[in-house]
This record gives sequence, structure tokens and C-alpha cells, in this order.
Amino acid sequence: MKIAFIGLGNMGGGMAANLVKDGHAVTAFDLSPEATGKAAEQGCSISATVSEAVADAEAVVTMLPNGAIVRSVYTAEVFGSAPKGALFLDCSTIDLATAREVVELAQAAGYEMVDAPVSGGIAAANGGTLTFMVGGSETAFERARAVLEPMAKAVIHAGETGAGQVAKMCNNMLLAIHMIGTCEALALAEKAGLDPQTFYEISSKATGYCWSLNDYTPMPGVGATSPADNGYAGGFASALMLKDLRLAMAGAETSGAAVPMGEHATRIYEAFVEAGNGGKDFGAIFTTL
Ligand code: NAD
Repeated sequence: MKIAFIGLGNMGGGMAANLVKDGHAVTAFDLSPEATGKAAEQGCSISATVSEAVADAEAVVTMLPNGAIVRSVYTAEVFGSAPKGALFLDCSTIDLATAREVVELAQAAGYEMVDAPVSGGIAAANGGTLTFMVGGSETAFERARAVLEPMAKAVIHAGETGAGQVAKMCNNMLLAIHMIGTCEALALAEKAGLDPQTFYEISSKATGYCWSLNDYTPMPGVGATSPADNGYAGGFASALMLKDLRLAMAGAETSGAAVPMGEHATRIYEAFVEAGNGGKDFGAIFTTL
């Protein structure tokens, strides 16, 4: 299939490479010459503009930093340049209102489009093991699946337009909340005189079990190996968690949902990132307790 790939950063670079490995002809564009250089080495043909990249495409995949950029790339350069019948897949994590708006604009311009944000970080993008949460009609989802599978461990139809972004924001808000709770429980166990490793052995098999405790233990030397054992380097950056929490707060406002724990988690990560810790893994919140 002829696929245009726009946004070849930490995530998009590996994703585009996996489409090439699967035998697709990938025309790619990014503003950064470094990113396009790496993509060329992986077998993508590099275009000088977005319009040129999408001109002949059967599918257009975008992996961009935020909603404003996604809107401007599609409205200014993709609509009108991509052939009629091309399918658009936005895999970026963006706010729900913009995600829905861009799909509506695509439909008005005569194209099918899905929101398809991912779970999994850079290693999963490179390894082709991302989980895609797809919002769109049944027919759009079936078309999207063929494009996404070479990059995926799982491709899940979340529901209608925007449902992918809803799944992503709810999942990451929950992740932030149980990470903070896990950090608090480990710190409290230690301060109250219980060996944290013993607490881990008990709670990871009791009702406190959760991914943050069982699989990503945020205390150095305790439980599962995680970025905590490497000075909180690598992993999922606190700045990216804050971005996702802010999207969840915007989504809660759009939909009128009450999210008191989500609001609290957002304030905690805001303070942490503002104190200069944005690059540290999100489990490093443990160090503040
Ligand atoms: P990144 O900053 O590494 O990459 C974004 C790329 O987009 C950059 O190479 C940039 O040059 C390019 N870009 C920006 N504006 C552009 C434009 N107008 N035209 C073409 N290219 C443009 O970011 P990333 O880590 O790859 O994240 C991409 C998306 O994936 C974000 O929405 C992020 O929230 C989401 N995400 C990231 C992770 C992660 O672990 N990094 C995990 C899940 C989801």
C-alpha cells in the first residue's frame, strides 16, 4: 500500500520503519532534517512538503505533538492534496474536541478518518508492539486495521469518532492516579516500619495490586525492575504524563465528568514538572514523598 507518514519523531520514526519492513511504500515528511535523515535510512522516501508526501497516498498516518499542529497539518496541507478515497489515521495523543473537529472537517472534505492513539512508548513503537485504540465507523476501522497491524501488538475498535482519544485519556489518568497511590503506599509502609519489599510481596498479591505496583514498582530496589532502578531515566517522561493529564482534564470539562482524583494528580505532576523534573520517568513522583 502507498502510505504517507507525517511526524517522524521518537514514536513516528519507528512506526514508519515498521510499515516499510512490512512491504509498504512509505513517503514521509517531518520538519526536522534529523528525523527525515533517520527515516530515509530506514527505507522511507522523503518528501519536501506534506502536500507532496500525501499526493499519491492510499493512507495518511500522522504522529504529531498536539491538536493545534494536527488541525493545521490536515486543514492546510492534507485535505485537497491527498487523493479522494485516501484514509486518514491520526495516531497522535490530542484533545478530544480537536480530534472530533478534524474528523468532521475530513468528512466534509470527502475523506474517511479515524483517531488511533497508542499505548506503549518508544520501545513499543520501534518493536512494532503498540496498542492502538481506534475511534471511527466499522468500515473505517476495518480499513485502518490493515495499516496499523504492522506497528501493533493489538488494534482495538474503541467506538465512534473520538472514542480512541477517550480511551487513551481515561487510561492515562487512571495510570497517573494509581502511580501516585503506589508511591504513597510504598513510602508509608517504609516510614511506618514495614520492609517495602515485604509490603510489595503482600500487596502485589492482595487487593492493592495494580500495574504501577506489580510491574513498574517506583521504589528503587523493590519489586519489579523499572526506571526507578536506573535513576528514573528512560521510561515514560513526567512531562508527557502531565500532557496526558491535561488532555483528560480538558476532556472531563468537555463532557461534564467529575474527576477530583484526576485534578489532584494533575496538580501533583504540574508541580513536579515545574520543579525541573519533566524528563524523569513518571514513577519519580516517589522521590517527593
Ligand atoms: P516527538 O516530539 O519526538 O515527535 C513529533 C515530531 O513531529 C517531531 O519530529 C517534529 O519535528 C514533528 N512535527 C512537528 N510539527 C510538524 C509539522 N507541522 N509537520 C511535520 N512534522 C512536524 O514526539 P513523540 O514522542 O514522537 O510523540 C508523538 C505523539 O505520540 C504525541 O502526540 C505523544 O503524546 C504521543 N505519544 C508519545 C509516547 C512516548 O512515549 N513518546 C507514547 C504514546 C503516545
